Amino acid sequence: MSVLVLMEGADDELSLQALTFARELAQASGDGAEPSAFTIDGPYAPAAFGQTVADLIGARAPRAVIAPGSERGNEVMAHAAAILDEPLSANTTAFEPGDPPTVTRVRWGGSLLEQALLRARTLLITVAPHAVAAQAPGVMPEAVPASGHALALAPTERVGASSGGVTLEEASVVVSGGRGVGSAEGFAIIEELAGLLHGAVGCSRAVTSAGWRPHTDQVGQTGTKVAPELYIACGISGATQHMAGCKGAKKLLAINADGEASIFAHADYGVVGDLHAVLPGIAAEIRKARGA
Ligand SMILES: Cc1cc2nc3c(=O)[nH]c(=O)nc-3n(C[C@H](O)[C@H](O)[C@H](O)COP(=O)(O)OP(=O)(O)OC[C@H]3O[C@@H](n4cnc5c(N)ncnc54)[C@H](O)[C@@H]3O)c2cc1C
Repeated sequence: MSVLVLMEGADDELSLQALTFARELAQASGDGAEPSAFTIDGPYAPAAFGQTVADLIGARAPRAVIAPGSERGNEVMAHAAAILDEPLSANTTAFEPGDPPTVTRVRWGGSLLEQALLRARTLLITVAPHAVAAQAPGVMPEAVPASGHALALAPTERVGASSGGVTLEEASVVVSGGRGVGSAEGFAIIEELAGLLHGAVGCSRAVTSAGWRPHTDQVGQTGTKVAPELYIACGISGATQHMAGCKGAKKLLAINADGEASIFAHADYGVVGDLHAVLPGIAAEIRKARGA
């Protein structure tokens, strides 16, 4: 079976794991032919890198392309899969040959392992981090130039987090809003309190999904991990995936209208009430204490 391995560098740990996975896959599939490894040369642009993988598949017709289950590996392979109209098995932990082969993959942030049949002309697979132990590399990846025509989509500028001055990672106070804030405009009071406390604004995924705040503000498993002195969670229910991002906080103050909300199980301090009434009250007290 001819197998290509997309690597992010010759010594990159997750790429070496992908290479090991590819060798095991080739062996399990019969012939044990050594996979060919490649890196993509050029400034990172997801669509261009995905196009490069698709072009390589067109030129070399491998049976499988394996990539690391890193953010970049998953992104590039998702683009390649979309271009080729093929399925992608992301974050895969195991492969069993067959017609079609069976893959096991990590779903829902690690809370579920799913087995699926992979019906595809070219098997596109990313390997879940640490699903296999990396062996010595043994191959020097070929540097393939990124497909030029798609490079026009390369980012020209990176815009920092929206919380003026203090970043989420560094802030000693984070004031975070959830669905309970109700709207993008509702974040004015969150911003005001963060400003008074020289802190940063955070939010839950419900908020970024609604388009009220940018993804750079999201705290959680698929957002930023924060470890402030004080984390103020306003209108956030306390889902596991959110708590994964703020469990490093020294103290947690929860403000929630529902006294049964699971966030209170993690809180050092709790206020049961409407955040639209509680937060202006806290801001007013801070101003009064400062004589403003
Ligand atoms: C793979 C995966 C990854 C995920 N990653 C993340 C992640 O990184 N970060 C993240 O946050 N989530 C993540 N999620 C989503 C997560 O499971 C929850 O759906 C999300 O955190 C819920 O956001 P929320 O608490 O704002 O909304 P809800 O769960 O809807 O809670 C809203 C809360 O607001 C309260 N409320 C309503 N009105 C008021 C009011 N006026 N005053 C006070 N309280 C009020 C309600 O009582 C409720 O407790 C992920 C999910 C999956 C499956």
